[in-house]
Amino acid sequence: METTQAFRGLDCTGCGASFDANEHGRCPECGGSLDPAYDYDAVEPGDLLGRTSDDGPGHWRYDALLPFPATGGLSANEGDTPLVRTDRLAEELGVAAAYVKDEGRNPTGTVLDRGMSVVATAAADRGLEPLALAAAGNAGQSAAAYAGRADLRSYAFVPSRTAFSNKAMVNVHGGDMRVVGGRYADAAAAVDDQLETEYHSLQEFTTPYRHEGAKTIAFELFADVGVPDAVVVPVGTGELLVGVVKGFRELRAVGATESLPSVYAVQPEGCAPIATAWQAGADAVEAWTRPDTIVGELEIEEPAGGDRALAALADADGDAFAVPDADALESAVTVAQSEVLEVGGPGGVALAGAWRLAEEGDLDAAEEVVVVNPDAGGKTPDVLRSHLMGKGI
Ligand SMILES: [Zn+2]
Repeated sequence: METTQAFRGLDCTGCGASFDANEHGRCPECGGSLDPAYDYDAVEPGDLLGRTSDDGPGHWRYDALLPFPATGGLSANEGDTPLVRTDRLAEELGVAAAYVKDEGRNPTGTVLDRGMSVVATAAADRGLEPLALAAAGNAGQSAAAYAGRADLRSYAFVPSRTAFSNKAMVNVHGGDMRVVGGRYADAAAAVDDQLETEYHSLQEFTTPYRHEGAKTIAFELFADVGVPDAVVVPVGTGELLVGVVKGFRELRAVGATESLPSVYAVQPEGCAPIATAWQAGADAVEAWTRPDTIVGELEIEEPAGGDRALAALADADGDAFAVPDADALESAVTVAQSEVLEVGGPGGVALAGAWRLAEEGDLDAAEEVVVVNPDAGGKTPDVLRSHLMGKGI
């Protein structure tokens, strides 16, 4: 398929072998996850800066560092989300400026639309059917939507706890859905158990393109405010963290900047395998045996990208830690009441992380902080409302 000028293939993060864009799963040699690679000398900072909608829809305007050109991208204008300046939050955090990168404004209300548009572009070119994945919720909805755009059949395997809005919208977008008893890992196991045909996987870190789509967040942040001092991201699968760190490192690689932000990864205490491994200084992430968080979107007990998340944290001079569910929901409600923004549990986890950083003196008064909200609060209003009920409201 047609690829961009700087794209030079898919490199295995396990064994280093290289493949062309016709490879679409994990490394056939070692099973490692593949990562799109580029010739950074072929990209000028100007190829990323000052991009407008004339250069492509949504995040496709940054196709100088995407595998496929904007002209062939399947798009519903995902990306190009607002960076909302939140002055009351900045005052509470005691920092010079605070912003929320509101990924809830994507077509299906999730940051995952960025990656799905890239995966769907590759899948449509090959015409491989069906597309399939396990999803905590948002990924299933997004996958069904982009599969529809690609005119390909799709299956989403979701755990029974998945939000009703996600389940309904998978079908509304024309996707097939299987509800699996248990947790995310059970849904992931069910894909291979129940799908007897060969399928094109949309699973994070099986396809090389989901985190690749997420990285355009870094390009958009850079266009809006340059390199912030700190970026706080909620973490479940790890694809958002890996993508954002890759994006900033690429900005440095093409000579757009010399500095990188500190990147903080925040997980809910009830399912925090990546934060726990990071805190312990471990090389690998161990599965979380008793996941229990109300933030279902981040309840990923055995993240496929765990090792890559740890590597990203090390690359970004980052840190990872966990926050209680109650703090996450309180943070989401506070921002809804003071900043207009509708932030769900995952965004609340990131916000609670920012408050924790402020309390512990990790943010100083001159700093600019960006908190990434990965999905729309309106997807799970019952979760936010139940938090108020717990307070007698
Ligand atoms: Zn390999």
